[in-house]
Amino acid sequence: LNITKNYMMLNSIIMRNKYTPFPNDKNIAAVINGSCASRNIKHTDVAHFDTYEECLNAVDSGEASYSRIPVVVLEDLYMSDYYTNIIPVIESPEIYLSLGVSSSNDIQLYSILNKSLVNLTNEQTAQVLSNNTLMFGKKEMSFKALVYSNPVIFSLIIIGFILLVVTIVFMYFWFKMKNQVIYFKMKKVENISKVRSEFLSRMSHEIRTPLNAIIGLANLMRLSGEGDPVTQKNISKIDSSAKFLLSIVNDILDMSKIESGKIQIESRPFSMDNLLRQLSNIFLVMAEERKIKLQFKCCFTHKNFVGDELRLKQVLINLLSNAHKFTENNGEITVTVLESAAEEGVSELRFSVCDTGIGIPETDLERIFGSFEQVFRKSRSNQQGTGLGLAISRNLVELMGGILSVRSEVEKGSEFFFTIKLPVYEKQFDEILENNNEVRLHSYLAGKNILLAEDNDLNAEIAVTMLEMQGVHVERVVNGQQAVDRFQETLPGTYDLILMDLQMPVKGGLEAAAEIRSLSRDDAQEIPVIAMTANTLQEDREKALAAGMNAFIPKPFDVEQLYKSIEKFLH
Ligand code: ADP
Repeated sequence: LNITKNYMMLNSIIMRNKYTPFPNDKNIAAVINGSCASRNIKHTDVAHFDTYEECLNAVDSGEASYSRIPVVVLEDLYMSDYYTNIIPVIESPEIYLSLGVSSSNDIQLYSILNKSLVNLTNEQTAQVLSNNTLMFGKKEMSFKALVYSNPVIFSLIIIGFILLVVTIVFMYFWFKMKNQVIYFKMKKVENISKVRSEFLSRMSHEIRTPLNAIIGLANLMRLSGEGDPVTQKNISKIDSSAKFLLSIVNDILDMSKIESGKIQIESRPFSMDNLLRQLSNIFLVMAEERKIKLQFKCCFTHKNFVGDELRLKQVLINLLSNAHKFTENNGEITVTVLESAAEEGVSELRFSVCDTGIGIPETDLERIFGSFEQVFRKSRSNQQGTGLGLAISRNLVELMGGILSVRSEVEKGSEFFFTIKLPVYEKQFDEILENNNEVRLHSYLAGKNILLAEDNDLNAEIAVTMLEMQGVHVERVVNGQQAVDRFQETLPGTYDLILMDLQMPVKGGLEAAAEIRSLSRDDAQEIPVIAMTANTLQEDREKALAAGMNAFIPKPFDVEQLYKSIEKFLH
């Protein structure tokens, strides 16, 4: 070849494999086809490749030891890839470019080319260079190159990503754990409340059974009229103490029902007159005994409303008995009921119980509505109570849609009041007049046959005596199985009604009632079965009805209550 003058000089860099000793006699130079390896750099062999990219790949893989690459090409190559095993050698020689003409060719071509190259301007050489080498800016940077050229940013991104994943995983397990903890806590609370409600139901049953005997016997003794006045007075005291004990059991049960959200407010028509009459019956005698002036100031245009008469009565009885307890002899108690129209068919009723008693210090006005809260008073020794009455009353009033509030001044008196809305009941219905003090004759009961299933002898004796007083024939059995057998043995129509205790040995009342209902005889479906039990929770009532029973008399029962419940079915 005849070589022309240099027409261009390129800066180059020697790129070597970082694991191969350099410079070294055993080095293999990677060169592009048409070039030769520099004689200035030690090497034993030369490997030829078509492109600089292939040269670099060979060095990177260790196939070659080094390669001399023009800087402009290298920049471009590093844009599209990153060679992890390659490092540059600092001192790198320049590359000079010339044209070569075969010596066998016409010398004229060589001379023309040579002259032309001399005349090339700097701009023209730069143009040639950029046209043939610079790809910079035209090629997209590869992801690998991008990562290797921005290691810090990518490290941060990866750390951030890992942290994010770790946080998400942590949060997931944390929430899962938290849910588990909440679930177990709820289960625990559920169990506690179940155990408590079972305990209360048991306790209430256990206390009610002997109370039934006490109240029943006291009733029987009072009704027989036997004994001197002192004995009769003592019987009254036994009766009222037993009833007080019963009210405590009821209060505790009520409070527990309120706390567990099991209390329900009923909606049934009732007569307001009748309700107030019952209140005056209960409290008038007590008031007269202590020379307390008890007044009812009522102003309502409608007679009948729809609501929970029992719960409303319970609240008013509690407020009135408090007024009695905390008012000295010769004081005054006023019950006020005012009706005003609220909306179509609904009235607003304001109830107030006002007394001229000892009053409540301002600091205690809120506290007394809490469970077991009482105002400490040095002077009063006859202050009976559990401190549950107002707590229950406030909750009941709230369930009825009102707020029980108090206004009071020490030594002047107190006023407890609340307003509730009740739908008006326009139709007429029979009013049941209650008078607890005398036993009336219930003519419908005379001559009827009742099957009584009761395991407790004393309670059975009381019930039998009470029923026989009205001319009822009673046959007693001691468990549910005997009740079923007796009913099956006798002809249809033998019994007019069955009174059934719920907790009995051998077979309980619920099973017995269900079995009687499933018998295939004419009166199996019709015969009234009344549950008579010391279990008084709502669940117990529901269970009794579900077992096919018609009604539920809670023990201890009042004589009149027993007669009336039975009479309803025999009428
Ligand atoms: P109890 O009457 O069984 O103690 P309550 O919850 O009904 O429980 O009442 C709580 C307390 O509020 C009473 O112990 C008493 O100190 C006070 N209190 C309630 N009503 C009156 C009232 N009319 N006059 C004065 N104090 C009252």
